[in-house]
Amino acid sequence: KSKRLLDLQKEIEGIVVSYPTKMPIAIDSAKGSIIEDVDGNHFIDFFGGCGVLNVGHGNSFVLEYVKKQQSKLIHALDFPTENKLSLIQKILNHLPSKIRKDFKVSFGGPTGSDAVEAAIKLAKIKTGREGIIAFSGGYHGMTSGALAVTSDTFFRNKLSSLIPNVSFVPYSYCYRCPFNKEPETCNYECADHFDWLLKDKHSGVAQPAAIIIEPLQGEGGNILPKEGYLERIVDIAHKNGVIVIFDEIQSGFFRTGIFLEFMNTKAIPDIITFSKGFGGIGFPISGLIYKKSIEAWESAAHIGTFRANQVSIAAANGAFDFVKKYSLEEHTEYLSSYLFDKLYQLKNESKFIGDIRGRGLMIGIEFVKNKDTKEPFEEFLKTLRSTCFNKGLLFEVGGHFNNVMRFTPPLITTTEIVNAAIEILTISIHECEE
Ligand code: PMP
Repeated sequence: KSKRLLDLQKEIEGIVVSYPTKMPIAIDSAKGSIIEDVDGNHFIDFFGGCGVLNVGHGNSFVLEYVKKQQSKLIHALDFPTENKLSLIQKILNHLPSKIRKDFKVSFGGPTGSDAVEAAIKLAKIKTGREGIIAFSGGYHGMTSGALAVTSDTFFRNKLSSLIPNVSFVPYSYCYRCPFNKEPETCNYECADHFDWLLKDKHSGVAQPAAIIIEPLQGEGGNILPKEGYLERIVDIAHKNGVIVIFDEIQSGFFRTGIFLEFMNTKAIPDIITFSKGFGGIGFPISGLIYKKSIEAWESAAHIGTFRANQVSIAAANGAFDFVKKYSLEEHTEYLSSYLFDKLYQLKNESKFIGDIRGRGLMIGIEFVKNKDTKEPFEEFLKTLRSTCFNKGLLFEVGGHFNNVMRFTPPLITTTEIVNAAIEILTISIHECEE
């Protein structure tokens, strides 16, 4: 049945299909961390709908909020509702107490890209400047502005004329340091590069409106920057009057064990983009959390029909309450260290695991042909992915060289399911390494 639906999709769905080419299933239903296909096969979902299903598929606690809201009000444009204002308050209350009062929240359209567009516009309007600086390996979406700050040229091929004044600088990718330094002894040369770009009048880059950066780079390979890096980047930006946008679309909503990843650092951005996990169980929602001091919109200067869908908002309210009621932050932390331990063991046994990194349940495993030369091993991961798939484990692949296994499982995943996933992974790695 899966094959029939996949074939039909290929024939009649007019847009390039991505995930099913790598994980060929037709999904029938899903609950918690398990997906069932139309043939009754079960899969452990370490993909999590691309980092969306933080509270798990079909979470019944959240579903109650959704059902209640559906029968009451679904579409309310930007009129105030108790539902919406309650969510804004929850978001603000989860920010560090010292900065909470400095921020406000606004909603974008349904996708992460909408939030990124809004953030870029706000920064440009506020500063009166044009340029944006983004980071190598960064992913911010597929609409023109968001695409312009996404570094992978695969997506931007033949679209260069759409791309405005954007420059890219190196991200803090310590396993493959662009400056050939070791993290223990480096001097943040990657941050210095950004500093130089802004300071040197001959760098070719005029003072930009903003930088946009993921505090933990997702599609780029779940790369956690070196401690202290974000603080430096923010400091350099602020000294140059540049607005700092942290894209927390993937790393947010408790994915790394805390509400937003930047809260694990001392860096304070001016704008935070959010989406994905905020929709609770997969409802579309996105928005900005931004400093009151950079407010620059005139009333109705940035609008959109499907902003702040009331059902999505109810799901978000439910997800926040679920996190609190069931201490999901603690569970994420516990599960994270359990999983990391198992993965480090696996790294010792494996010939091809070069690096394991990330935070919380946003974990990257980088495969290389040789642990000394670090030559990327994309082909191995391709085979490994289909071997794991055949045994019932789903995950995403990404990274600067497509050689990173990316785990973003639901945060509610149990130890038993993690054990089952590790078993599949271990057997599959052994099989593929033979
Ligand atoms: N920013 C980040 C960090 C993302 O991971 C993504 C999606 N993978 C986006 C933006 C774009 O979100 P969307 O696909 O909902 O437009």
